[in-house]
Amino acid sequence: MSVLEVSSLAKSFGGVKAVDGVTFNVERGEFLALIGPNGAGKSTCFNMINGQLAPDGGDVRLEGRSIARLSPRQIWSAGVGRTFQIAATFASFTVIENVQMALLSHHGEVYRFAGRVGPRHREEALALLHRVGMADQADRSSRELAYGDVKRLELAIALANEPKLLLMDEPTAGMAAKERNELIALVKRLVVERGISVLFTEHSMDVVFTFADRIVVLARGRLIAEGDAASIRANKDVQAVYLGTGKVFERKGSVRSAGAPAP
Ligand code: ADP
Ligand code: MG
Repeated sequence: MSVLEVSSLAKSFGGVKAVDGVTFNVERGEFLALIGPNGAGKSTCFNMINGQLAPDGGDVRLEGRSIARLSPRQIWSAGVGRTFQIAATFASFTVIENVQMALLSHHGEVYRFAGRVGPRHREEALALLHRVGMADQADRSSRELAYGDVKRLELAIALANEPKLLLMDEPTAGMAAKERNELIALVKRLVVERGISVLFTEHSMDVVFTFADRIVVLARGRLIAEGDAASIRANKDVQAVYLGTGKVFERKGSVRSAGAPAP
């Protein structure tokens, strides 16, 4: 069974069909990229899957069970994690305390915030920080972190909930190319190690074609293609919707931003 089944999903805003009958699955352990030009409906899809928006039509199933009209909190509890859209960290706490609080919440334990979090789940939190390469910063204040490190902390917090599916809408927004590659490579390793599934959006075609197991392409609210990197790269409809968006599809297969130096 697929982890996630999205079927005939639809949402309009006024007269605009932001998402217009979109159907796709996410398989277990799959790293699936949802791409498309600005305004294609990617974020609207994410927000219907995570419960922020109620669909006008269609269904979303997690391991066979409909989650389409549950609250964000219920969907999160059912095992759909997400990162990077909200400022998920508490600046006044240390890095490890943020992960400990996520673990407390995941284990259903009540905690009264009387200043510090204490030793609860410290070992497990440290192990998660180690996994995202942040163990050496465990006792730093969260507000001192560099941008890329905040993202890695948010990833550790998301993992604390042991999600079946992780949603990442533009996780690398605002990152330089090297940092962007490192973050996506890290998430990909976690997908492989833990068998979780990830649905993500990403502007860099290089990153998408390098790391995604499969790619789903939206344009004006509709799914226009899905497949592996080679088939998406060669797809004429996909090339057509990216015309004029600053992305250049190279003959040999690589894609780069217009104006960027050739690799
Ligand atoms: P993407 O994430 O692919 O860039 P979005 O899902 O954000 O696309 O947007 C899809 C379309 O829906 C766009 O035309 C956008 O202007 C419109 N849209 C998205 N959210 C809203 C909203 N809250 N109110 C009105 N229109 C919206
Ligand atoms: Mg978006």
